[in-house]
Amino acid sequence: MNDATFTKSLCPLCGGPDHRAVSTTGQFGIPAHVVVCVDCGSSFLNPRWTKERYDRFYSSEYDTYYRPEVVSQNDDRYKFVPASQIVTRLQRYGLLRPFQRVLDLGSGMGHALTYLRNVHEPNAQYDALEPSPTCRTHLLSNGFGYVGADVYGPWDDQVKDSYGLVIMRHVLEHFHEPLEVLRKVRAVLRDDGLLYVAVPDAMHPTKPLRSHFFRVVHINYFTRRSLAAMLGMAGLEMLHIAEGDDLSKNEVFAICKKGPVTKFQPDTTEAARQLALYRDAGRLDTWYELKSWGISILRRLRLIN
Ligand SMILES: [Zn+2]
Repeated sequence: MNDATFTKSLCPLCGGPDHRAVSTTGQFGIPAHVVVCVDCGSSFLNPRWTKERYDRFYSSEYDTYYRPEVVSQNDDRYKFVPASQIVTRLQRYGLLRPFQRVLDLGSGMGHALTYLRNVHEPNAQYDALEPSPTCRTHLLSNGFGYVGADVYGPWDDQVKDSYGLVIMRHVLEHFHEPLEVLRKVRAVLRDDGLLYVAVPDAMHPTKPLRSHFFRVVHINYFTRRSLAAMLGMAGLEMLHIAEGDDLSKNEVFAICKKGPVTKFQPDTTEAARQLALYRDAGRLDTWYELKSWGISILRRLRLIN
């Protein structure tokens, strides 16, 4: 972790250069320089690792930190929960239909694709974009198409206007250039295609902030407002957007289709709201850290599940 090279950035949403620092470290004690943009209130890492450093992390280190099932045997009772949430939400809005071709961006082992194939549409074509070589091997051996490892690469050239559904579940917050990625996604959607996107909600963050919510791999911290703004800038029209529901209180999710590109109008009062929320939520960090430490001890002693 000590060979990280950091690079400065402007606000990924409005391009503003004026930012307020919120934190310098995040999960696992790895530096995470969270700032809030004064002009539009969006939060993101600045400075952040270079793209080369992130590429190395995702290719060879990410699984160790975040995907225990890839590197060892793991309790897999919960592996289809996120996928079942996607299906339930599409169903609730009357948007679960034959998709014919589905892409999961940042698919990991492909649990969402497996779930859709099992419970919804056995004969659709399922594709994945995923940087981890271990996951790639697993995806290919499970009969999934593999469009590439690098989201900024030319993977989209071969699959323009192809997909009935693109899934981006907790991936947009990881990207250096989230707007560029959304534009590529728009280009690979069919005219009747849907994008399902879900991100952690910076207005309803999981706690503690400093050792859980803030993390080096999350470059962008979206809210309902900032996600909606960026989707519009990419020409993605929201059919639905929600700031949490009964399935998850701490995420923003949206279901979109191709639409016109809309201009972003920053709200200069948003920065004060976001800064106040982080300040108040962060006051409880020590309490939440002690609580999670206590729970892990009880689990190790097998006094709770
Ligand atoms: Zn901004």
